[in-house]
Amino acid sequence: MPSTAPVPLSSSRPALPRDPSRDAPARRRRDPRDVALVVSALVVLVATLVVAAWAGLTFGGTGSAGTVGSTGRDAAAADTVGSTSDAGDGPVLDPGATGEAGGLVPDGTTAFDVDVPGLARLDPRLLDALQRAATDASADGVDVVVNSGWRSAAYQDQLLRDAVAQYGSAREAARWVATPATSAHVSGDAVDIGSWDATDWFSRNGADYDLCQIYENESWHYELRDGASRTGCPPMYRDPTEDPRMRA
Ligand SMILES: [Zn+2]
Repeated sequence: MPSTAPVPLSSSRPALPRDPSRDAPARRRRDPRDVALVVSALVVLVATLVVAAWAGLTFGGTGSAGTVGSTGRDAAAADTVGSTSDAGDGPVLDPGATGEAGGLVPDGTTAFDVDVPGLARLDPRLLDALQRAATDASADGVDVVVNSGWRSAAYQDQLLRDAVAQYGSAREAARWVATPATSAHVSGDAVDIGSWDATDWFSRNGADYDLCQIYENESWHYELRDGASRTGCPPMYRDPTEDPRMRA
């Protein structure tokens, strides 16, 4: 009889119940958990990679694709930063950007290195005035370098914290470094120039380009003041703490 044959066969073999009980049922019970574990692990791994990549972009990125490409520095980071910046093109990453992408300016940057984000994100009128002044300064034998221009809020905050550490108090640091909310650098409206020859040249000629020194204690810090070429620059504040903008 074919219908009864399998029953005694399966029940008479001790190995059959054992194998299924140890392997198949166990596998059936364990599998969903294993799959869930593997999936969880993958999710965590992917999330970690995403966070790591983001952290690398935000804190490790040292520049735009253009500038890093030309200097050959940190090429891997440049690719990532470049592609992300291209995709987002903008302000989304900027507040938190540090390094060159956040406005740190490489040594020797001139008014014409417009691939440097610190210059590229300046008010175009300020950049234009700066370039005209630098051209004329150069004709006078004075090389103008740009030590700082636009800065991200994160970079400005970092500078402020460094200044607090350096000067020992927030009060003293405020004489030199503005907050991200008040800084004319963060809004793209200020440049810090060098060398000393250049600051000397600007102190004599900057007003011709509507470029004015704003603070007595910062001979390098220039902002655009419309009409200065006709009426001269406004009186300087002794330091930033006297500037009403800094109390906003
Ligand atoms: Zn400045």
